[in-house]
Amino acid sequence: MTETTDAIVIGAGVIGLAVARELAMHGRQVIVIERNATIGQETSSRNSEVIHAGIYYPRNSLKARLCVAGKERLYAYCSEKDIPHKRCGKVIVAVGEAEAPALADLRERARANGVGDLQWLDRAALGAREPAVSGAAGLWSPSSGIIDSHAFMLALQGDLEHHGGTVAFVSEFRGGSFGGGMIRLRVASGSGAGGGDSGGSGSGDSRDSGGGSSRHSGDGSGSGDGDGSGGSGVGVGSGSGVGSGSGDSGGRAEVSEIEARTVVNAAGLQASRVARAFKASADASTGSTGTFTAGADAAIPDTRYAKGSYFLYDGPSPFNHLVYPLPVAGGLGIHATHDMAGSLRFGPDVEWIDSLDYAVDGSRAARFADAVRTWWPELEAARLTPGYAGVRPKLSAPGDPPADFAIIGPVGSGSTELVHLLGFESPGLTAALAVAEEVRRRLD
Ligand SMILES: Cc1cc2nc3c(=O)[nH]c(=O)nc-3n(C[C@H](O)[C@H](O)[C@H](O)COP(=O)(O)OP(=O)(O)OC[C@H]3O[C@@H](n4cnc5c(N)ncnc54)[C@H](O)[C@@H]3O)c2cc1C
Repeated sequence: MTETTDAIVIGAGVIGLAVARELAMHGRQVIVIERNATIGQETSSRNSEVIHAGIYYPRNSLKARLCVAGKERLYAYCSEKDIPHKRCGKVIVAVGEAEAPALADLRERARANGVGDLQWLDRAALGAREPAVSGAAGLWSPSSGIIDSHAFMLALQGDLEHHGGTVAFVSEFRGGSFGGGMIRLRVASGSGAGGGDSGGSGSGDSRDSGGGSSRHSGDGSGSGDGDGSGGSGVGVGSGSGVGSGSGDSGGRAEVSEIEARTVVNAAGLQASRVARAFKASADASTGSTGTFTAGADAAIPDTRYAKGSYFLYDGPSPFNHLVYPLPVAGGLGIHATHDMAGSLRFGPDVEWIDSLDYAVDGSRAARFADAVRTWWPELEAARLTPGYAGVRPKLSAPGDPPADFAIIGPVGSGSTELVHLLGFESPGLTAALAVAEEVRRRLD
């Protein structure tokens, strides 16, 4: 039997949870399907946990607009829900005079994005604000901050459940089709689902599917594949209503169907392959024979992977704020952040990869030390230890200009609505609440 609901969100990272919460709070019955056993096991727990001000992104881009709007909503939400966070501010450093014009450009870009609170720091002012940092000039961003991203996601999940929504764990999307005025998803649940490469999505994307171990383990090891563990995850369907399925035993997935008029693909690193798995189909309920093109490969950009590794620093932090160099191709430059407990870490760097891999290569420490010493000459390289890594879902190729977030849709035939959320790299964590509002508005 096929289970029916109003809206399905694929993926319980920060974006999927925020969208699901928003839809549930506006009266829709929402089910999130997540292949891992808990929320936020992939990119949403493998990042810098920085609340970005909205400085770097091209004017009028989704990144700029949703970061600036999301930041304000996020600070308000953190206060309302007691989510650990700090508006600690950050300094962007021009290490020599030659970098000062690029720093000035950043200030103009920020202004165009509505971030009007940046302050220029000359050498003396930079030294006063961050005595350990060496540089010719700096930009002070008072609205940048840090957040406990897991607490944020737990709050989103709590709101979702409070408004009648559910997250079905160990439930992996395997394919989608259209008919009878509905979008029907095939979902594998149980211990054979979750994180593994299903091979059945028809995406034509050769990259590995990846699940993840929790980050911040500091062990430097990675899991290229999903854990597929559990077996106790809540299944979807089986004719018994959401939340009642028990994960299959013996490592075999039970495949069931669930349908809704509205589906949001928030599958992060897998979002392109999930998008391509929706088969063209006519809407039987309207008698339409038109071709449904949402899943056509041509309309869906590839998601490429740019890994970012972090090294932890064994020692007290000499910094009062977050410290960033100028951005580099593919990333914001190896920067210094601290978590809510005050532990200092450096990263992420940029390494383009073909398949998911979260291992941190200890031999990269020397490169990290060289990069950091350009603005913190006192760094003791021996105190760097491999931390964790995250992978950016990129819609641009190496050497291309940075791509914007892509919100594709709603597309569909008849009364169905399908939205794909692609390329949600940084500042996706900051922007999540605004992304959710944007998606909900497009679906209203
Ligand atoms: C190194 C790094 C640093 C970053 N730093 C920052 C920062 O400081 N500040 C900031 O604002 N942003 C930052 N970001 C960006 C931010 O982390 C992401 O934008 C955000 O986490 C994306 O969330 P998501 O929900 O789209 O993806 P994810 O968290 O990856 O969630 C996608 C979910 O979909 C699930 N899924 C995938 N396929 C399927 C399937 N077939 N069936 C069911 N479920 C499926 C996955 O298991 C996963 O749980 C950083 C990103 C990286 C990589």
